[in-house]
Amino acid sequence: MKKSAIFLSAVLCLHVISFAQVTRWQQAVKYNMNIDMNVQTNRFTGKQRLEYSNNSPVVLNKVFYHLYFNAFQPNSSMDARSQELGKVLVSNRPDWDGRVKDRIANLKEDEIGYQKIISLKMNGVPQPFKYHETILEVNLTKPIAARSKVVFEMEFEAQVPLQGRRSGRDNPTTGVRYSMSQWYPKMCEYDYEGWHPTPYVAREFYGVWGNFDVTIRIDKDYKLGGTGLLMNAAEIGWGYDAPGTELKPTNKAKRTWRFVGENIHDFVWTADPDYKHLAYKMPGGGPTLHSIYKYKSNNPKNDSAWATVLTAAAKALPFIEKNFGKYPYPQYSFIQGGDGGMEYPMATLLVGPGLGTVFHEWLHSWYQMMLGTNESMYAWMDEGFTSYAEDLVTKFYDNKSALQG
Ligand SMILES: [Zn+2]
Repeated sequence: MKKSAIFLSAVLCLHVISFAQVTRWQQAVKYNMNIDMNVQTNRFTGKQRLEYSNNSPVVLNKVFYHLYFNAFQPNSSMDARSQELGKVLVSNRPDWDGRVKDRIANLKEDEIGYQKIISLKMNGVPQPFKYHETILEVNLTKPIAARSKVVFEMEFEAQVPLQGRRSGRDNPTTGVRYSMSQWYPKMCEYDYEGWHPTPYVAREFYGVWGNFDVTIRIDKDYKLGGTGLLMNAAEIGWGYDAPGTELKPTNKAKRTWRFVGENIHDFVWTADPDYKHLAYKMPGGGPTLHSIYKYKSNNPKNDSAWATVLTAAAKALPFIEKNFGKYPYPQYSFIQGGDGGMEYPMATLLVGPGLGTVFHEWLHSWYQMMLGTNESMYAWMDEGFTSYAEDLVTKFYDNKSALQG
């Protein structure tokens, strides 16, 4: 490159940098949630305190929340779409998602999912709200000024649907009791394109960056995995305090688990009384890797497969970090749950321990979880880069890579 061209490029770069500094912003959230789960009724109550920072230069007259569980009701948009796809034949077979089909239409009252808002306040003042199926619209009594912070306090109750798409209870394949993704009222993202109150029909996700502090009260026999660090590991035991420990005994009917995750845009958890937990701490101050799966007493191969998840992940991590960047969080959990493989911050829910899916979902930590792209609108940004990275990592793991770890 010639000197004049370098100068011109430098000027252009500086211009772009200064332009970026004055116009780029992102909203921020800080959630504190207290959840009380009833494993007999499959319902829970929740208290949510949400500090919401409007870092945009725009005054907000309303806000929106996602209420994803409301998709799991007969005649919902997700149900209608699935049934419509069932009428379309591709290679003589219905084009619907085999995990959804007409299952939503057949859910009974105690099998549907819902999220109901009991009360909602902003800075102590009750707020009016309207349901639009999976979206809650809140027309604020007072606008949120540009570059200011407010506090929302919400009480809600929810019923966990029979395992539907991604989340739910009593998975028909794995038997996992609770796969709790998209389970809490979640503030929609507001960015340079405006609000993203995307209804939950089939698409993936987009969320606001921030910190999550989540306390879950649940039957004492249940074991939990999820996003974030378990803050009361010494009280819980079960491999969270030290490898191989049992769940600590308690006289109480319920036990409390508190997870904290920082710089993330979603929070997932799962619960099952028959879970087993393996953990491995990466040397040199790296993250702790967890493998949490449904224990089968008559199948030792199942244990070795879930143990291999950890050794494979540990072998791949230096290669991944060298080629795609450092993993910045203190832990990552490979958890049996959900209905296939799906990525969440610091965790994935997997139906089984297949390494292809293990690598794929973990690499979503780099492509979507750390970049926070809008999966609903630009699926190629996360699926494209993740699939490319998965291919390279698989080749490395199989000793067929030209790249070095
Ligand atoms: Zn993917």
